[in-house]
Amino acid sequence: MTDRVLRKLRAGRVLVDAEGMVLGPTEIAIDAEGRIASLAAISEEGLTREEAGALVMPALANAHDHGRGLRTLAFGAADQSLETWLPDLRRQPRVDPWLNAAVALGRLACSGVAAVNHCHNTQDSRALLAEAEAVSRAARDVGVRVAFGWPFFDRNPLVYGDLAPLASFLPEARRPDILKAADGMRDCATNFALFERAKAFEHDHFTLQYHPVAPQWARPETLAAISRASAADGRRIHMHLLETEPQREWAWEHHPRGLVRWLDSLGLLSDRLTVAHAVWLDEEDIALLARRGVTVSVNVSSNLRLRSGVPRIAELLEAGVPVAFGLDGMALDDDEDMLRELRLAWHFGARESRPGGGPGGGPGEGLDPRAVLRGALDAGHRSILGSGAGGRIEIGAAADLLVLDFAALTADCVAPNVDVIRLLLGRAQSRHIRAVWVQGRVVASSGRCVGIDLAELEARLTREARHAYLNSPPDEAAIAEMKTGVSAYYECDCHRTG
Ligand SMILES: [Zn+2]
Repeated sequence: MTDRVLRKLRAGRVLVDAEGMVLGPTEIAIDAEGRIASLAAISEEGLTREEAGALVMPALANAHDHGRGLRTLAFGAADQSLETWLPDLRRQPRVDPWLNAAVALGRLACSGVAAVNHCHNTQDSRALLAEAEAVSRAARDVGVRVAFGWPFFDRNPLVYGDLAPLASFLPEARRPDILKAADGMRDCATNFALFERAKAFEHDHFTLQYHPVAPQWARPETLAAISRASAADGRRIHMHLLETEPQREWAWEHHPRGLVRWLDSLGLLSDRLTVAHAVWLDEEDIALLARRGVTVSVNVSSNLRLRSGVPRIAELLEAGVPVAFGLDGMALDDDEDMLRELRLAWHFGARESRPGGGPGGGPGEGLDPRAVLRGALDAGHRSILGSGAGGRIEIGAAADLLVLDFAALTADCVAPNVDVIRLLLGRAQSRHIRAVWVQGRVVASSGRCVGIDLAELEARLTREARHAYLNSPPDEAAIAEMKTGVSAYYECDCHRTG
């Protein structure tokens, strides 16, 4: 085996998995296929100072995102409720889709993410195929693994429900366009045909998943067709679900016996499905998702920034639902810091725990921090790559590794035996990352990407976006009118009428 070893990585500590097993000074050998060939204990004296201060752990999975190289705040879509934020997305200037994806994926690589679920939002719905090809190229160039959620969006383009009441809240001149808004939506058959063609873009680091955008945004027959297709070809499905209270209210009206139960009747609930957000689940929903093995991708920062509510992390985990975590392009500090996102999830999951304990944690701790790490390592990788993928450092596993500056993380620690997982979740940030490896290759090192010049591309993206914005400024009056109309629509409960 040794003659096939290509690279070696040495570190003072190795966190093997989410269960907290830590090895002392270790040499990790990586073979020509990018897999771990051996893990050998070595003496501390043989390490350089930098190696001795390093912690190697499995790289992270970001189980829900949208590839927003150009951030929403950058083009003036302020944080607010999801429903009024959506019209603000019209401010987004048109940019090169490769550039947009490369910047987004490059930033994720620098934040320790080796695999991401990219739910694609088109800039131009007629250009979906070309945009998918651009994301596929960006995944190859940056070197991270991308599951590309192919969007099926063929219902409720502006609000959850009938367009006529919305039109009535807008000036007369706008009404005809509002009433026609659903006309140009890509139908299910066309979408499946494009999906077939997009399979040509797949490679080792880029695979397609079905992405019905959400139950309120996909027709029932489309959801049923996706359920059948996934059962036949085994591809995974990724869908937003019950992100906000108005969505929950819409669901009550349209599926009085339960939206989640209805999705189950379509055969959609299985261990091939990941649902994002799921903030507004009830106990029955949670129990059903657990029975079917559905993964929930929780996005705490996004839920705060878009005023959606607080996800029920502890309840999901207690019920046995696999929970993963995503940034949704909406990290708390708008910086794609995946490690900080995990901290937020841990603290929110434990926020109301009493001193007597909680789901799996130590006394007074509430949520077991290992449950959060399992989400970032095990459930997250499975959601993106399928079963048996990622999350452990062991012989034969792909070398998807995160190297952290453990010396900096422990610089002020007094006790000799540090609890690695609690310290990681307690204070690690992107700035502590020394390197990220994917399939045995370094893709990011000390805040720089290896495959792309991230700083240069970020500057180019900003330049191009400013240019496009100036050349084609958003229609401020139309956006303001639409936001007023949308707000009035939900205020009058129009989404709750059949
Ligand atoms: Zn999303």
